[in-house]
Amino acid sequence: MIESIERVDVLVAGGGYVGLSAALAIAASVPGARVALADPRPWREASGDLRAFAVAAAGRRMLSALGVWENLSVEAEPVREMIVTDSRLDDLIRPVFLTFERQQDGDALAHMLPNGPLVTALGAAAETAGVRFLTPDSVLATEQTQGGRRVTLASGKTLVASLVIAADGARSRLRSEAGIGINSWSYGQSGIVTTIEHDRPHEGRAEEHFLPAGPFAVLPLKGGCRSSLVWSERTEIADRLVAGTPFLFDAELLRRIGHHLGEVRAVGRRQAFPLGLTLARRFTADRLALIGDAAHAIHPIAGQGLNLGFKDAAALAEVVAIALRAGRDPGTTDVLDDYQRWRGFDTLRMAAMTDGLNRLFSNDLVPLRLIRDFGLGLVDRLPSIKRVFADAAAGAPGPSPRLVDGEPI
Ligand SMILES: Cc1cc2nc3c(=O)[nH]c(=O)nc-3n(C[C@H](O)[C@H](O)[C@H](O)COP(=O)(O)OP(=O)(O)OC[C@H]3O[C@@H](n4cnc5c(N)ncnc54)[C@H](O)[C@@H]3O)c2cc1C
Repeated sequence: MIESIERVDVLVAGGGYVGLSAALAIAASVPGARVALADPRPWREASGDLRAFAVAAAGRRMLSALGVWENLSVEAEPVREMIVTDSRLDDLIRPVFLTFERQQDGDALAHMLPNGPLVTALGAAAETAGVRFLTPDSVLATEQTQGGRRVTLASGKTLVASLVIAADGARSRLRSEAGIGINSWSYGQSGIVTTIEHDRPHEGRAEEHFLPAGPFAVLPLKGGCRSSLVWSERTEIADRLVAGTPFLFDAELLRRIGHHLGEVRAVGRRQAFPLGLTLARRFTADRLALIGDAAHAIHPIAGQGLNLGFKDAAALAEVVAIALRAGRDPGTTDVLDDYQRWRGFDTLRMAAMTDGLNRLFSNDLVPLRLIRDFGLGLVDRLPSIKRVFADAAAGAPGPSPRLVDGEPI
């Protein structure tokens, strides 16, 4: 008996921000493309993730080109200014070593977006573009078969895809199943995330305080007197702070944040995310491409993990769309090699930068402190060097995928 098995052009494993973006970008750029996406959680269900993301200009342009920015912009708070300090926990004064203001073109440095609206906007747009959602379900295994990769889902369903996109996060099952090695280490830190309220308005200012235990970031949210906190601490201390009383949490918060925002209190739940670096040695295998955290999970010190993932989604969607429009197979080695070449260097550069910054700043060694503060002060006084940093954070260097330039594929 001949088995009848469904075929798709592209199967995306993982409906996080990056998997949703890739599925949407391909489906929207190639009418008639058969794109399916599997995730244990349907996009309509709230994930309970308390994070808010600093979306750089490149990511915003991509969301705009995909038609989702218009709805999202009402939820987005522009980051107009950023200050950086380097001090000990109980220092009474926190001298500002570095400031960034909005870009020369008047663009904000980034926009802060809460998790919920971002997933909802991407999910709804992907559904409208014709992405077939296989949710709730997850990819159990994939194997090479003639002209495609056979995908087995937890529900027992199987299908064959010309290309499988692994967007299944830092602990990617598909990556290990394909035998792709990783370079990976833990920072021994966790990032505590919660929302805070303060009496004085933030006025669009983001703050990053380099403290000996790790970076402590206060990021402005919509509404003027609310901010998102990403507070790095040694993991055991972070776990205690998250499990402790609100009183203890707020007291420790105040020691770090100071008094310039007036009364400050954490509202709602708190979460701790263990921090590490995971870099896949290759981003592709037979009919398989890794994107987002499945390819690279980096320290949130510069708020760049998701922004890198957006660029992966845009680059992969572009090479896949070109192949599909020409009637070619999107899972062949030449298509995947183009993707690997495009994203390899940018990712390595950002992974090295965030790793280096975290090692340089997350300590209290006096000689190192003197050198880094001298360096920060120097950067602050040299506009051209500062511009290089601001451009890197905005996602400017290197040839960009069309979506990242705000153009359709
Ligand atoms: C504290 C913190 C703050 C951060 N702040 C920022 C920031 O400000 N700016 C920024 O750019 N980045 C930031 N990041 C990084 C950012 O969170 C990640 O880079 C981003 O979430 C990666 O998205 P993703 O879609 O690749 O993976 P994920 O969000 O991990 O999504 C993976 C998806 O795959 C699904 N999945 C897993 N296994 C399977 C399977 N077998 N089959 C099908 N589906 C599966 C999961 O259910 C999930 O939906 C931060 C990270 C942390 C920890």
